This record gives sequence, C-alpha cells and structure tokens, in this order.
Amino acid sequence: MTITKHTIKRIFLKTKLYKLNHLKNQFYVLPYHSIVEKPNGFYPENDLLSFKKEMAHLAQNYTVIDFKTLVERLEKKQSLRGYVVITFDDGFLDNYELVYPVLKQYKLPATIFLTTDFINKKSTPWFIKFRYAFMETPKNHIQIKIIDTDYNFPTNSKIERKVASDKVMSYMRSCPEEQRDQFLNTLYEILEIDNFKPLENLMLNWDQIREMSDYGISFGAHTVSHPVLSQISIESAKKEIKLSKEIIEAETKKQVYSFAYPFGKKSDFSQELIPIIKQLGFKCAVTTETGKNNFETDLFALNRNFPFEMSVLDI
Ligand SMILES: [Zn+2]
Repeated sequence: MTITKHTIKRIFLKTKLYKLNHLKNQFYVLPYHSIVEKPNGFYPENDLLSFKKEMAHLAQNYTVIDFKTLVERLEKKQSLRGYVVITFDDGFLDNYELVYPVLKQYKLPATIFLTTDFINKKSTPWFIKFRYAFMETPKNHIQIKIIDTDYNFPTNSKIERKVASDKVMSYMRSCPEEQRDQFLNTLYEILEIDNFKPLENLMLNWDQIREMSDYGISFGAHTVSHPVLSQISIESAKKEIKLSKEIIEAETKKQVYSFAYPFGKKSDFSQELIPIIKQLGFKCAVTTETGKNNFETDLFALNRNFPFEMSVLDI
C-alpha cells in the first residue's frame, strides 16, 4: 500500500497529531470567499457542508480571534499558539445568508473584506463575469489572440473550460486595466455571452453588512473596484484603498482595521504601498500567499492558509 499525503493527514487527524500545530508560536489566517451549497468549480467557492465541519473543528480545537485582538497580542508578544483569524474576501451575499448563521452558531469572530463598488449590486466582479462566461459558453472550441500569440482552447468539458479560463486569467492579472476591459469585451464576443443577468444580486448590501457589524462581525477594506494594484499608479492605488476604508467606516460607524490586497499575490501589489496603508490607519493587511504566520511575519503582508488537517475533515 502506498502511503499518500492524504492518508498521512487522515492519520494526523484521527490521532489528533495535528495539535502539533499548537507547539510553535504560529497562527493561521483562513482565506474564504463564497460559501455555497453546490460549488460550480469556477468561482472561488467552498461548499456549505464542509464549511460547517470546518467551523465546528475550529471552535473545538483553535482559538478564533479577530484582527484587533491579533494585533494587540502581537504587540504584547503574547502567545499565538493555535490561534486563527477567519476571513472572507469580496463581500458575497452568501456570507450573510449561509455563513453568518454558522458563525453565530459557533460564536466565531470573522472579517469580511469588502470591495465597495460590489456592494448594493452596483457592479458584479469582473473576475466572476469572466468565469461565468467560460462556464456558460455554447462554444466547444475557442480561438483567441493574447498579445501576439493565437491560442486554441477546446471548451467541451468542464475541465477544459477551467483550464482555458485559468490560462486566460493569468494574462488578465498582468494586463493594464484599460487593455483588460477591452480584452474582456472581445472575449465575451468570442465566448458568445452577453447576458449576465444570473449574476445579479450576488453581493451583500449595506443593511446586511450593518446587521452583521452590529452583531460583531468585522469588515475590512478590499479597495473600491478590485484592481490589480501593481497595474495602476501608486496615486490611484492609494485612492482605491483610502476611499474603500472611508465608505465602510461611514456605513458601519466602526473603524476599519484591516486591508486585503485584491488577488493578493506578491506580484499583484507593490511594496511601496505598505507605508501608505500604514499611514491610512490600517493595523494589518493580508495577501493570498500561502503559509502560516509568526512574530516575524510582516503584519502588512500576512499569509493565508488552512491548517493542513482541515482538508480531510470530510472523510
Ligand atoms: Zn478579492
């Protein structure tokens, strides 16, 4: 019998050896987006049943705190063994409809990072429209020019569509904004998708946000329009970050402590932004770089990852 990583994880879970996580002074920031009953495999989604198991596991085995407490403990050099911060990016409606009741059930704090233009249905995230177009295209094959190269992608199966959308997405992330919007319009024509109606009502509104905020859920800033910050000027990036903080503070009447870089890989934002984010009054910022954190991790470039045993809770 070959022992797979998966088997080892399961053994660690059964024997509670995952508690070795608690030995070192390290903590996790968990990266969720949307939670749904049936993930479609295209959006950044996790399924509700697994999510419930994960929250039950965290409530039982970890100390779940918010960013304010995290920063206070870090400043005082207090232990962070077995500590976890739960986060959700973008502000999806399911965070209110499905996530909020589970958080209440287990009395868990969490932070939702809001992209303020997405709230109240003002706009649907372009990356969601993009994935939707690949998911729903009637075409079985597409031909597309990226920079100077012609690409041919089969789009028969769900897997082929996912492969094609991942490939094109990696180009989009490195593309200046104006060029990206132009490219997206051409792409939707090629994919023969012009109706995005099913994507309406996908995001939270301010009433839901205020209700959760009053209960104790924290809200962090995630810019106004979700740009790739490294693809716009520092001035525009500053405006995006500052304005999203001000809007959330005005709507919730609470201070915004934390920031999440859109897309969040090191290449998606410039290090020059870190002093600006500090100056704007944020106490910490999260990336989507994977890994644990400890006292040495930059508070303005926190890693996000799940404790390893969480991927086998289902079995
Ligand atoms: Zn995001």
